[in-house]
Amino acid sequence: MQSLTNRSKIVAKKEMTFTERLYLPAIFSGMLITLRHFFKRKATIKYPEQTREFSKIYRGQHVLKRDEAGAERCTACGLCAVACPAEAITMVAAERKRGEEHLYREEKYAATYEINMLRCIFCGDCEEACPKEAIFLTDRKVDSLYTRGEFVFGKNILVESLIKEKQVDVTVRETPDVAGFKKHKEYAHNIVK
Ligand code: SF4
Ligand code: SF4
Repeated sequence: MQSLTNRSKIVAKKEMTFTERLYLPAIFSGMLITLRHFFKRKATIKYPEQTREFSKIYRGQHVLKRDEAGAERCTACGLCAVACPAEAITMVAAERKRGEEHLYREEKYAATYEINMLRCIFCGDCEEACPKEAIFLTDRKVDSLYTRGEFVFGKNILVESLIKEKQVDVTVRETPDVAGFKKHKEYAHNIVK
């Protein structure tokens, strides 16, 4: 068969030499490799007793941000769901009623918003796609849970708390370019605390 890449190798079964047939040299060289690894610096750590330092922009569990007045920023545009390569995000949009302005910042909001954490690959595409700076990944780790259903996180888990101390500071995730862009008057409404 003609090769397209010239990377294929023809493998031939060759006769073993006398030393190879003894097996002992191969066993000893294998044991020597194991012994050498005893004295090498270990690549693993004893988690959970030890933990590594995480990057400030670690991509962990998502948060749906509120604005400065505490209203949900998400307008259920669906761009995060479209951008998601794992198809982990689903939502149902609803129209804001009169008197709900303090709950939802835009006229349309997500009545339900779900992320399937078993599908999510924590790529951050949803965060980048969001025009309202409503969704961010955080340094929080997703808990270990027992059933598949529990990994579908709804708004009760994703929307950030109204308590200031429990809110996530996402400004560390901002690149200088994005920070500069937000100083533009026209986009001032998108400033996230
Ligand atoms: S981080 Fe990536 S995979 Fe996870 S929900 Fe966002 S876009 Fe989808
Ligand atoms: S999180 Fe952002 S991108 Fe996703 S639906 Fe809400 S506003 Fe749109």
